Amino acid sequence: MKIGLIDVDGHNFPNLPLMKLTAWHKQQGDSVEWYEVMFTGHCDRVYMSKVFTFSPDYEYYIDADEIVRGGTGYSYPDGGKPLPDEIEHIYPDYSIYNDRIPETKDTAYGFLTRGCPRGCDFCIVGEKEGRCSVKVANLEGFWRGQKNIVLLDPNMFACREWKDLSRQLIDSGAWIDFSQGCDIRIMTEEKVDALRQMKIKQVHFAWDKYEDRDMIIPKFRAFKEITGWDKRKLAVYVLVNYNTTLEQDLERIYTLRDLGFWPYVMVYEREKLPKGHVLRRLQRWVNMRAVFDSTPRFEDYKG
Ligand code: SF4
Repeated sequence: MKIGLIDVDGHNFPNLPLMKLTAWHKQQGDSVEWYEVMFTGHCDRVYMSKVFTFSPDYEYYIDADEIVRGGTGYSYPDGGKPLPDEIEHIYPDYSIYNDRIPETKDTAYGFLTRGCPRGCDFCIVGEKEGRCSVKVANLEGFWRGQKNIVLLDPNMFACREWKDLSRQLIDSGAWIDFSQGCDIRIMTEEKVDALRQMKIKQVHFAWDKYEDRDMIIPKFRAFKEITGWDKRKLAVYVLVNYNTTLEQDLERIYTLRDLGFWPYVMVYEREKLPKGHVLRRLQRWVNMRAVFDSTPRFEDYKG
């Protein structure tokens, strides 16, 4: 079969389902390539994957006998159809992204766990993956000695098997990026110790709910004191435009900075905000780190 792939979101971050589909089809002896409307010609099947609801859909004609669409961007608010087991658990073919995203030459991407017990109402994970963090893979399922590992787990430390998974990450000796968020609220000394034994490139936490303030600040403070890690390793997602005021957003941002963390603003339904909206400006100010460093107060930011 001739298989075409379309990463509808663009090519800034590798699409795991497409890499797994590529690996599986190549195992069957099929040819796989990116679908380019001008060059690819007729395909037996084209896979289109769209993670984000706000990404515009592919707008060109697709010359194929069959078109398969997948991903949260197409199925939201329900989670969509999971990949068949034999594809879900295959070692991804990272090579399809090597030209577009050079990091994929030496980085493994994947999930050790799925699901999250929190059930935050702005987040799709609980509905899509379940309200429990469950181990779904060992590291060798998607890592074969690459220098870097990017974990996509929503809440690995909520998993009962976090110790086993941490041991695998420690033993890998690779640089680890917890890209989706470690839950600071469930951090214990034992879990922090496990993190300290890993080669951590970056850990992402989240402070989404303003009302967590009294509980979460001491947690962040203790984490910083124990690890002593530089803020470049410690990012914290700050959700805005959901149920907080600008004052509450700024309070979280300033507090995190004072505690020695990097805030990173995530705007809920950003695509619905008009150009020039204050929260778009807030996001630019915080997320452009050099600007955030050189302009300490939001009211002085002219962008
Ligand atoms: S803790 Fe994070 S992953 Fe879990 S439901 Fe809340 S936002 Fe989603």
